[in-house]
Amino acid sequence: MAEYEAVIGLEVHVQLKTNTKMFCSCVNHFGAAPNTHVCPVCLGLPGVLPTPNKEAVIKTILTGIMLDCDIAPRCKFDRKNYFYPDMPKNYQISQYDQPLCDRGAVTLNLLAYPKDVQNDPKTVADKKIRLVRIHLEEDVAKSTHFETSSSIDFNRAGTPLMEIVSEADIRSPEEAFAYLTALKQILIYGGVSDADMEKGQMRCDVNVSIRPKGQQEFGTKVEIKNMNSISAVRKALHFEIARQIEDVESGTTIIQQTRRWDDGRSETFMMRTKEKAHDYRYFPDPDLLPLNTEEGLLAEAKSRLPELPAAKKARLVKDFALSEYQASVLASEVALANYFEKAAAAAKNKSAVANFLLNDYLATGVDVNAIPLPAEYFSELANLVEDGKISTKQAKDVFAKMVSDGKSPAVLVKELGLSQITDTAELEKLCEQAIAANPRSVADFKAGKTNAVNALKGQVMKLSKGKANPQAVGDILLKKLQA
Ligand code: ADP
Ligand code: MG
Ligand code: ZN
Repeated sequence: MAEYEAVIGLEVHVQLKTNTKMFCSCVNHFGAAPNTHVCPVCLGLPGVLPTPNKEAVIKTILTGIMLDCDIAPRCKFDRKNYFYPDMPKNYQISQYDQPLCDRGAVTLNLLAYPKDVQNDPKTVADKKIRLVRIHLEEDVAKSTHFETSSSIDFNRAGTPLMEIVSEADIRSPEEAFAYLTALKQILIYGGVSDADMEKGQMRCDVNVSIRPKGQQEFGTKVEIKNMNSISAVRKALHFEIARQIEDVESGTTIIQQTRRWDDGRSETFMMRTKEKAHDYRYFPDPDLLPLNTEEGLLAEAKSRLPELPAAKKARLVKDFALSEYQASVLASEVALANYFEKAAAAAKNKSAVANFLLNDYLATGVDVNAIPLPAEYFSELANLVEDGKISTKQAKDVFAKMVSDGKSPAVLVKELGLSQITDTAELEKLCEQAIAANPRSVADFKAGKTNAVNALKGQVMKLSKGKANPQAVGDILLKKLQA
């Protein structure tokens, strides 16, 4: 049996985070009552003039800069003509032969892969997936189909939409997963979109073909339309690749077609075959002037370039003395990384803060975009441990209370009566008490059984109700026994 290789290219639509729509001043807001954010422009009434949204153009350019694209010095908008009920003008304003951004790449990172393959030796951590282009267009209205009728919500019509097209550089469902995860991370870092696939803010068309390993030419591709979750993309690709291999092995020719993913049944099904290429009769929109990005737009986008995930990770390792792993997990979500920087600012041991945040706090299922606790609590807690005021075990209790009650660690230490006894005079007294009450252990120690000090230490801890600083107790006992 021949060995096959998958060839995958993704077309990703991203809703841009802007106050208003792409060519009119209607509010761009998800979740409003249907058909409340509409006007003559986005309803396609005759005699109106579109005005491009500067913010959407800047955010598309910024995306291009973040993904290493060439930014077009000049480009234009074109009309893509077709009829569909969700598009009342009968054309969509898009970009045809002059996209705002050309080429570029998305670099995968290990944590962007599904968890179950992150340790697989076959997983290529820093693979680059090249981009073909990024262009700016307007979204269409949203149709919903019921049993006997359909409805259309024009709130989405005319909202700014960015299309990011990859080269067919992706070779496995896991790489497709990592590509979408890494892309989403960057879109969120740049503040260009919330990129929530469940809300339709990021939607993906998956193109996939197979070829015998070693063959250069691509096979016939199948397109799976409108996927709305990253894990569904992975599942759909596994199914589709297996289906295509089965067809080829049994001598069935693969025909170019569009398919849909049925999440309930975990399979793709055919929507239509592609008899010929669509002819959209693109032509430059006569209502819109060409864009000159060199006049201010590019400079504005450049001024907004954020620190990107890879740079953030490197800085967390260097400036906060974190492990590569801690830094990677923190940098994978900008909100989490920013919170950590505040949380660790005043901490003597920054890695301890990272541990509280990553091991303890995230396990409580907290939403990293809306962390309710003041970030300073974390450095306060870490410093209490670092200064020997509370033990690491007590810190766990304080942490739990801090999460449940929202009180500061200092307040909780008082309320719970937890503070460690570090007062030397008091500790000396307790040690003398323990020595006097345990002549046996003392004799053992003097006879060379140095372990006997632990029994005494246990006694002191008991006498102090667990509040003595164990390190200090050990030191004092040794001093007294050796005297
Ligand atoms: P179309 O005109 O059908 O949309 P494009 O050539 O514009 O096709 O490519 C769309 C997407 O499909 C791109 O991401 C591209 O990388 C990918 N693609 C093209 N050919 C193949 C193929 N044979 N197998 C897998 N993906 C492909
Ligand atoms: Mg396509
Ligand atoms: Zn409008």
